[in-house]
Amino acid sequence: MDRILIVEDERPIAEILEFNLRKEGYDVAVVYRGDEALEAYRRLNPRLIVLDLMLPGMSGWDVCRQIRRESNVPILILTARDGAESKVEGLELGADDYVTKPFDMRELLARIRAILRRFPGQDGLLRLGDLEMDLENFTVRKRGQEIPLTLREFELLRHLLLHRGQVFTREELLRDVWDYQFPGDVRTVDVAIRRLREKIEDDSANPRYVLTKRGFGYYAPGP
Ligand code: CA
Repeated sequence: MDRILIVEDERPIAEILEFNLRKEGYDVAVVYRGDEALEAYRRLNPRLIVLDLMLPGMSGWDVCRQIRRESNVPILILTARDGAESKVEGLELGADDYVTKPFDMRELLARIRAILRRFPGQDGLLRLGDLEMDLENFTVRKRGQEIPLTLREFELLRHLLLHRGQVFTREELLRDVWDYQFPGDVRTVDVAIRRLREKIEDDSANPRYVLTKRGFGYYAPGP
């Protein structure tokens, strides 16, 4: 399930957004302060962030700038109707789209769907070096050769490629990829990583696609 993080201090707006996004089948988290957004982003790994600009604690511009230092996660900015400059600034800071308030919910939902569709790329392929992941057909190719992966291996690789440069602990991977609600055996992750490397790496002892950060966890190299 795609998770969306809402950063919005006006509670009626946050609530109606949350309600409608849940109805669309998204997993939704809400924070009401700018200075809580970064921590929430790191903890929750959302697929998309809906970000208000005028926020207590830290402005949406600063939130956007900070998140862009570590991630390409799609950001949709909510801006006041008269904020022509703010939307330009938002897009310059690396936001992917903006919607002016008050907004039409159907339009907002359509924008979100559109961003999520185009996020891995227009062709639906995620790339890393010689690897190509086709997210629609669940296939992975290396130099044109298809590599058979289990569904779990595919989801693990997809998660790492969607968050390139970000190191995940084994506990986080159990939660995000395996959907474990309770602490599980983190060796499950090590075993899956080893099998994945044996399939995708030229030399699984010297991996290039799925790397280990000693003492922390695993990651795919940043863009
Ligand atoms: Ca606000």
